[in-house]
Amino acid sequence: MKNHFSIIGFKLNKKYLFISFLGMFLAGLFIIVLFYNLYNTSKESLINLWKNDVTDATNGVDSYLSTPADAVEFLSAKLNSMINSNASSDEISAYLASESEVYSKLIEGSQLGIYGYFNGEYLNGTGWVLDEAYEPTERPWYKAALDSQGRAVITTPYLSAETHTMMITACKLLDDGKSVVAMDLFLEELEDYVQRLTVENNAEAAIIIDKNGTVIAHSNYMEVGKNYNTEWGDAGRQLVDALVTKFDGSAVLSDQNGSHAAFFDRCNKGWYVVLIMDEKSAFISLRIIYILAALALIVVLVIIFFISSYMGHKQNEVEHLSREVLAVADIYVSMLHIDLDTDTVSVVRGNEDVDRLLGGNFESFSFRTDEFAEKMCAEHFRDMLKSFLDVDTLYERMENVNTISCEFVDDKDRWVRMRYIALKRDESGHMTQLLLAIESIDDDKKKQEKLRVLSETDRMTGIMNRGSGEQRIREKLSTADGGMFCLMDADKFKYVNDTFGHSVGDKVLIAIAHTLKDSFRDSDVVFRLGGDEFAAFAVGVKDSDIGMIIMDRFFKKLDLIDIPELKGHKISVSVGAAFYDSETHEPFEKLYERADKGTYQSKKTTGNKVTFM
Ligand code: GH3
Ligand code: MG
Repeated sequence: MKNHFSIIGFKLNKKYLFISFLGMFLAGLFIIVLFYNLYNTSKESLINLWKNDVTDATNGVDSYLSTPADAVEFLSAKLNSMINSNASSDEISAYLASESEVYSKLIEGSQLGIYGYFNGEYLNGTGWVLDEAYEPTERPWYKAALDSQGRAVITTPYLSAETHTMMITACKLLDDGKSVVAMDLFLEELEDYVQRLTVENNAEAAIIIDKNGTVIAHSNYMEVGKNYNTEWGDAGRQLVDALVTKFDGSAVLSDQNGSHAAFFDRCNKGWYVVLIMDEKSAFISLRIIYILAALALIVVLVIIFFISSYMGHKQNEVEHLSREVLAVADIYVSMLHIDLDTDTVSVVRGNEDVDRLLGGNFESFSFRTDEFAEKMCAEHFRDMLKSFLDVDTLYERMENVNTISCEFVDDKDRWVRMRYIALKRDESGHMTQLLLAIESIDDDKKKQEKLRVLSETDRMTGIMNRGSGEQRIREKLSTADGGMFCLMDADKFKYVNDTFGHSVGDKVLIAIAHTLKDSFRDSDVVFRLGGDEFAAFAVGVKDSDIGMIIMDRFFKKLDLIDIPELKGHKISVSVGAAFYDSETHEPFEKLYERADKGTYQSKKTTGNKVTFM
């Protein structure tokens, strides 16, 4: 089964594919959890910010309203005592006028002064003249005071008869149960609160509303005085409901225009300051967290993907290399991996020879090559192996080839081939990793030798054939200090064949060959030219005296040939011998010609005969 997956040019094996997917999954999970928490914390802090702002505004409203409420409370004490002591209307009016002056300076938005309904008479500290339609006991401030049973209260906004603007009034019923002291307040101050709250929080609206749904102040002034229970559809009803039922200060309002988030807090007066946010745009800033999360996720996934791809690629390279190395190693008896960067050796395929060679030390390869040659090589080949193993000259020797080899006989007399194989090179082409393969070629060498011998041997007689014999003599001529070249031709051989048969003739030829071989030294060259002709080269034999000794020996041995089928017939040969003088550099052909003439001469004599030329 295919074990690799290719993704945009990268090959990933299964293991790395799994690891990278796992890594991506965990990183993804981590980022999602991280950003989920970040989102929640950010949302919470945003909500807290809005709630705090609402609370601040509530406190502002409280402090704005507490002063007029306290004022009417304070004034009522004096007025109660004035009424009790039957003070006249003028006296009360004078008091109201003087206090109006004081409070107009003290309380912003109360320039309209202090007024009220005392002993059935409307009195005003600023001297405002009543129009005819004005009925004090029908005014909202009077009714509110009556309703509140003697507590100082603030009315809901109503249209002022004096200014014809929306107004609120702090008022209190006096002890006689029918007189009321009142102080008007402009709504601007409250409007300022809601405007500021809206702008600062980029809100849809900010509202001050009472628990019945009456809008006391609104960032949109046109809304003041409306009752949201009926005049702001579903959202209004939901808001009024939430004010009294929800205690966490927040609610989600929805109508056909979408969703709104409402944050609210209660004033001491029982009013509520409400901040209305469009739910979508309220949390729009949090979207950046989503975007960041997505970006982080993409970046991390891409990084993990590329890291794992790179690692997978490297791993594949390593696996590929090691597969190649092992495949190569199968061919060899043993193989070492050499890292030239670290100058260390590791055994890819070992045997006892390798163990003996390394001796458990895998360091400093380049310094130990001479030691290796000494240890494992027959003396004759040591220098050659030392220069082969030499790491210093390796780059030069392997500049254009990936492998070099050397054959030698080891210390156990076996033929061995060593081979350097370049495995990895750096940018400049220098080898960084090498294989040293060791191969036994003993069997091959023996076969080769056998074939060589066979090709050089005369099939019938077993001595050298003409081709190799002549070749050998030519070699000797170039090195030997003289010698004797002999040509021999069996006498009357046709007669032997004809008389005793061809097979007997063969036996005779074999016997002559052996006799010849026996008569010369091993270092001499003895071979069959073909038919009944033989040749020999006796190295270093320079004159006929020594030549004659050899020939006599040969002739005597010939005489001793005993082949029963010959029935006593004696074998004789005619020999021509020519001496080679190394100083003349006579070519082999000339030497041959001379010897041939000698043979010719010898033929003229019956029996064994040699003629020296
Ligand atoms: P001479 O004394 O002049 O040398 O006479 P000869 O009969 O030996 O004549 P020659 O040397 O010219 O002939 C050699 C003969 O040797 C010719 C051939 O029939 C015979 N002969 C050649 N090769 C072989 C062989 O392989 N086996 C046998 N049995 N005979 C061979
Ligand atoms: Mg012959």
